[in-house]
Amino acid sequence: MNISIIGSGYVGLVTGACFSELGNKVICADNDAGKIESLKKGIIPIYEPGLKELISINTKNNRLKFTSSIKEAVNSSEIIFIAVGTPSLGNGEADLTGIENVARNIALNMSGYRLIVEKSTVPVETGMWVKHTIKTYIRSKNKFDVASNPEFLREGQAINDFMHPDRIVIGVESKKARDLLVSLYKPLKATMVITDIKSAELIKHASNSFLAAKISFINAVSRICDKVGADIGEVARGIGLDSRIGKSFLNAGIGYGGSCFPKDLDAFITISEKLGYNFKLLEAVRQVNQQQKDFFLAKIKDSLWVIKDKTIGILGLSFKPDTDDLRNAPALDIINALYSEGVLLRAYDPQAMNKAKEIFGNNIKLCKDSYETAKGCDCLIVLTEWDEFKGLDFSKIKRLMKRPLVIDGRNIYDPLIMKKSGFTYASIGRRSVSHK
Ligand code: NAD
Repeated sequence: MNISIIGSGYVGLVTGACFSELGNKVICADNDAGKIESLKKGIIPIYEPGLKELISINTKNNRLKFTSSIKEAVNSSEIIFIAVGTPSLGNGEADLTGIENVARNIALNMSGYRLIVEKSTVPVETGMWVKHTIKTYIRSKNKFDVASNPEFLREGQAINDFMHPDRIVIGVESKKARDLLVSLYKPLKATMVITDIKSAELIKHASNSFLAAKISFINAVSRICDKVGADIGEVARGIGLDSRIGKSFLNAGIGYGGSCFPKDLDAFITISEKLGYNFKLLEAVRQVNQQQKDFFLAKIKDSLWVIKDKTIGILGLSFKPDTDDLRNAPALDIINALYSEGVLLRAYDPQAMNKAKEIFGNNIKLCKDSYETAKGCDCLIVLTEWDEFKGLDFSKIKRLMKRPLVIDGRNIYDPLIMKKSGFTYASIGRRSVSHK
């Protein structure tokens, strides 16, 4: 099939590369001409394991190309995926400027039947607005359908998630749209949920909100563990073995971040409010998430007493491992809070250093590895659970630091081993080994 993807970010590039790998002819478009020029030269603007290779093979096979002309993308394919960003506006609403802009461009450039598919995460009833916008601006008599096909991939394992999804959700209003999407996805052999457009839109917001709620729930329980000296790891294991609950998303820590959960939760709360429902449950989820970062900062102060002019080393900046994505990473809030209180910061992340440089400039010392980060530190804090941090040589770290103190926001180390290695170690919802 001929497919166009408008918006060549994390989702657009992975979707485009995977559809081309499945044998389709794909054009990825973006209004960022610089990004498209880089992609044409084989420079991939994001870090996602396996993506560079997949793009390289499929561009060589002429199944994947890039353009900054939305017109070209609209003209070339019967199926057009919209994968532009839908960031949060200051008031919590999703910014749908990109979606509206693409819908208008499609209307103005359609040269035959088109199936326009929302891949971006959007509030319920966006499909209705996309349809209305195209009807308003269309100049030709060409027919079109709108469909919703939310994306559930996770950064860091996006290609595997796309190729082996738990389910594929398709929201359609016509048989033609349904048949096109069903045959496009047929090679993936996944369970398909075929429904109406509004239900499909809601499935995405409800899924992300549910996952965020699971994280906030275990974080709230971790606070009780902290107070009584119970172990959140044991509690989570005991809960997660119940098949009705499941093991995933029960890792206590400094909370969720990233480009999806915070903004999707905000957007779901806001659209619910607009529709006349006060989604208090989700407001509490958001509040617990914020409190986790404050709680972590309090742990740092509790260990260091006065933090001004102390040196803190940060292991991990990205919002989760295996990505360079810093959007809404908990690290950003924690760094800003520490910096504003006069802490001297050193940091290392396996993939996010370039993006960190853009955000923090010279306000933090960016180091070449964990060991350089530890040099001269009063405290080392873990903000992302990268595998590479799990196997560090702590006797070396101890020699490098001013004092052996580790505060672990992701519970990646064993408290007993840390104690045996001579460290004062604090983590989330687990018995701390105190220096006091
Ligand atoms: P992104 O910011 O990485 O990419 C969006 C791209 O769209 C950018 O390259 C931008 O230049 C381009 N763009 C914006 N407006 C445009 C326009 N008018 N015309 C053409 N191009 C335009 O965002 P992303 O992470 O890929 O997310 C895209 C959507 O997918 C969002 O709605 C997001 O919520 C959703 N989503 C993201 C993930 C994820 O893990 N990143 C997972 C599932 C769903």
